[in-house]
Amino acid sequence: MKNRFRWLTLILLLFVLPASAADKGTVLPNVVVVTTGGTVAMKYDPASGGAVPAVSGRDLIAAVPGLEKIASIETMEFSNIDSSQMTPELWRNLSARVQKLLERSDVQGVVVTHGTDTMAEGAFFLETTLQSEKPVVFVGAMRSASDLSADGPANIFNAVLQAISPDAQGWGVTVTMNQYINSARYVRKDNTTNVQTFTSGEHGYLGSILGNEVFRYNNVHIKKRLPLPAALPKVPLLTTFPGDDGELIRHAVNTGARGVVIEGAGAGNVNTEVFRAIQYAVSKGVVVIVGSQVRSGGVYALYGYEGGGSSLVKAGAYLAGDLSPSKARLLLMLALAQPGMTPEKLRALLDPR
Ligand code: ASP
Repeated sequence: MKNRFRWLTLILLLFVLPASAADKGTVLPNVVVVTTGGTVAMKYDPASGGAVPAVSGRDLIAAVPGLEKIASIETMEFSNIDSSQMTPELWRNLSARVQKLLERSDVQGVVVTHGTDTMAEGAFFLETTLQSEKPVVFVGAMRSASDLSADGPANIFNAVLQAISPDAQGWGVTVTMNQYINSARYVRKDNTTNVQTFTSGEHGYLGSILGNEVFRYNNVHIKKRLPLPAALPKVPLLTTFPGDDGELIRHAVNTGARGVVIEGAGAGNVNTEVFRAIQYAVSKGVVVIVGSQVRSGGVYALYGYEGGGSSLVKAGAYLAGDLSPSKARLLLMLALAQPGMTPEKLRALLDPR
């Protein structure tokens, strides 16, 4: 009896299982979905009167019809928080986890679900620190899982599709939402509530996704790679405003900042008082990068008066080029954490060419 049972099991293993695998054709590519939270994993909570974290990684995937037909999905829960709670330290840990996944030969790509508020910064942090050519797709939703017409499931489907698509390789880390693919370098959140929130401004989308196809518009991939450091230094981001007396910059210097990023006006200009505060910072060995409050264009050494871009460079400050101030800040934190960082190396990191 026991023997007959063994034979039956063997016959089942030899014929039935391979036959069902053959029915499916080929083995599906492996994608790991790392979940960190955001609206995509939230539901309306009547007690607090707003959306709160509520959906597990598995449930997030289970809510995407058809995903099982295109990829074999593994989920890894990193956190379940609103992305306003994200920190460079958390992104450092996230980057280390994603790096390990990318090193697995059976993993074709990684999808990271993330809140949209700081997704552009998180994607840029991983873009700079991941040492792999495999695709990493950041994705989220503007509508919670309990909202009418939630955009999360379609966005996640597209993100997985992109991660395995031969037409979508070589872009590094992207932010892909509402059909559009943006580079981590240029993506920005442009609308507080609309599903079409991520754009790349004048740099344009990398591509788009429709049906089961990726359409490639752009091959540009500016990659400034740095090793993931063990710890990150304090680097505040300060905006300037008419009448700014530079007090906040001096405070940052006096309270241990190793670098400061200033969100200047226009093409990278500040008033005389702020210029003096920047000179003070430089004299104390604090690295200063000046970016712009303006979202298109870049920051250049155009004006020579005290506080103009040219005078800032002469005073020892760096210009952010075409990086947003918040991304320049992350880059500076990573650069300052590297042993042997020199002014030339920092200038090369900030130069988009
Ligand atoms: N507040 C949310 C977050 O960033 C917004 C979103 O995910 O769309 O986590």
